[in-house]
Amino acid sequence: MTANPFFAPSALPYHLPPFEEIAEEHYLPAFERGMAEQLAEVAAISGNPEPPTFDNTIAALERSGRILDRVSTVFFNQVSSDSTPGTREIQKEITPRLAKHSDTIKLDPALFRRIKELHAVRETLADDEAWLLDRYHTDFVRAGAELDDQDKQRLMGLNDELSRLATEFEQNLLADTSAATIVVDDPARLDGVSVEGAAETAKARGLDGKYAISLILPTGQPALSGLTDRELRERLHKAATGRGGTANAGIVTRMARLRAERALLLGYAHHADYVVADQTAPEPQAVTDMLAKLVPAAVANANAEAEALRAEAGFDLEPWDWAFYAEKVRNARFNLDTARMRPYFELDRVLRDGVFYAAGKLYGLTFTDRPDLRGYHPDVRVFEVFEEDGTPLGLFLGDYYARESKRGGAWMNSLVKQSDLLGEKPVVVNNLNIVKPPPGEPALLTFSEVNTMFHEFGHALHALFSDVRFPRVSGTAVPRDFVEYPSQVNEMWAVWPEILANYARHYETGEPMPREMVDRMLEAERFNQGYATVEYLAAALLDWAWHTEGGAAEVSDWESFENHALSQAGLDHPLIPPRYRSTYFAHIWSSGYSAGYYSYIWSEVLDADTVEWFKENGGLRRANGDRFRRELLSKGGSIDPMSAFHTFRGRVPDIAPLLTRRGLS
Ligand SMILES: [Zn+2]
Repeated sequence: MTANPFFAPSALPYHLPPFEEIAEEHYLPAFERGMAEQLAEVAAISGNPEPPTFDNTIAALERSGRILDRVSTVFFNQVSSDSTPGTREIQKEITPRLAKHSDTIKLDPALFRRIKELHAVRETLADDEAWLLDRYHTDFVRAGAELDDQDKQRLMGLNDELSRLATEFEQNLLADTSAATIVVDDPARLDGVSVEGAAETAKARGLDGKYAISLILPTGQPALSGLTDRELRERLHKAATGRGGTANAGIVTRMARLRAERALLLGYAHHADYVVADQTAPEPQAVTDMLAKLVPAAVANANAEAEALRAEAGFDLEPWDWAFYAEKVRNARFNLDTARMRPYFELDRVLRDGVFYAAGKLYGLTFTDRPDLRGYHPDVRVFEVFEEDGTPLGLFLGDYYARESKRGGAWMNSLVKQSDLLGEKPVVVNNLNIVKPPPGEPALLTFSEVNTMFHEFGHALHALFSDVRFPRVSGTAVPRDFVEYPSQVNEMWAVWPEILANYARHYETGEPMPREMVDRMLEAERFNQGYATVEYLAAALLDWAWHTEGGAAEVSDWESFENHALSQAGLDHPLIPPRYRSTYFAHIWSSGYSAGYYSYIWSEVLDADTVEWFKENGGLRRANGDRFRRELLSKGGSIDPMSAFHTFRGRVPDIAPLLTRRGLS
């Protein structure tokens, strides 16, 4: 084997990982050496005979684990964006070992003693040092560092069972979703959806000559808006909402109970209390109040929408009819023809004349192609980012196309985190799942994909503009209920007239998108908001209920708990099921969003209020971009995020703009 490329820092510009030299067999040895190296570094810190100082303890921890950091970053990026059977095997093996590695450090009593001693004199430190020290202290306490040995053992037992149950939940859901695939013999029944696609889906499952519709994760299934066969719609809806009902029933109640027990052990009233203690929401009651405040108007909107759909259908609807009649009303009302819109949204044009153009106007950034630098896949494009005065800022990688080896959705990853301590500039990547066109043909997007490009680039800006000393607080290392805020704000530029006019041009003729098409598109964006808000709130409320009262011993039946929680909140709408029901709500049982699904709307309050600020101050102006960058984006997690917001906005957030946007006021 040649030298392991993870053992030394990358020699490439910006320390871009040397992807061409990295092979699968490098990962495990690098993880192993990386963990061993960091444990040795930590042992040297905790065994240091000198009294603790910021530098010999906290900064030393920040400097530790370089190999592990390099390999983890590249590896977890690869398993998301371009996985192989080999990397999936490595992931299974390495994930529990990494969790144990982290516990070993956080539950090291000698190390925690140093952090605690230092914490007692934190007012003697510089502001950013005191903030970081506080971060470490909190991380360690929340991981159980203050418990006695017996409780530490109990905590590790709870963590172990919880992680096992989460994996079980995930695997049951995967199996159940696959088993719930709708299979039909007669293609005539598929009127309204792609028969070819259904034949392909069946074939991939070994059902040659049949037709199949597979399920996506949320309750709402795309085929429901097209299928004219009502009985088939009913079957699809019931298959989607029934997932996990048997296999995950016991897991859900058990996990809620274990999480409640863990919260008590750590000194919190319940799991939501534990989670919120480390978020921007001041206390659980603030989340409860916020959700409750939105319900009546959202339900009223949804009821008005239901009336319009009923009028269109001419009979009383069932839940499986909503999407079908919504599509009919939408098409009639806005006369939208997505096929005619796509030629105005060509990928390269949206990126350069939209996303990059907006960043130029707001922040003075320029972007240069760097075809000499390679990504981890031939489709990845590398750009160097410069300040207005030519100062290099970092690298931006765009990985826009879908492929078999990539997971669904869209996201941003940091490949190198900005920090002065380690002398690093940022390297970030945006991932989307746009269908790759045949060679020589343009990639023409939907407006929703355009919006996603702007959204993900908002996360990229948060990382690129990071201007902090320490890696722990770099870029997007902010609370979960804050992290979507900058990315949601960046979506505003996708529809800003000057930006839209600059990128929405026909890919062949260069003609701007016709004005009335733009207007109809923007109007259609606001359609069906009542439904969308109610299904979201119902899911957020369920998450909340499970993690406040759901851990009580007397909760034994998930379904009656769910029904009761929804009806208590006024969200038991007969036509609108929650976006996820409890038994397939992967976000909260297996994906780290427990007591955190509220975050989306919580961040949207800040987003809508910030959009107002930009509008009040002349919109697309350098001075506005500079202020947002200086007070907010550049800070990362190095100061209290809500005080950063306060400095930027000049006051506490106002919920009114969000209510207006969603038609709730
Ligand atoms: Zn996002």
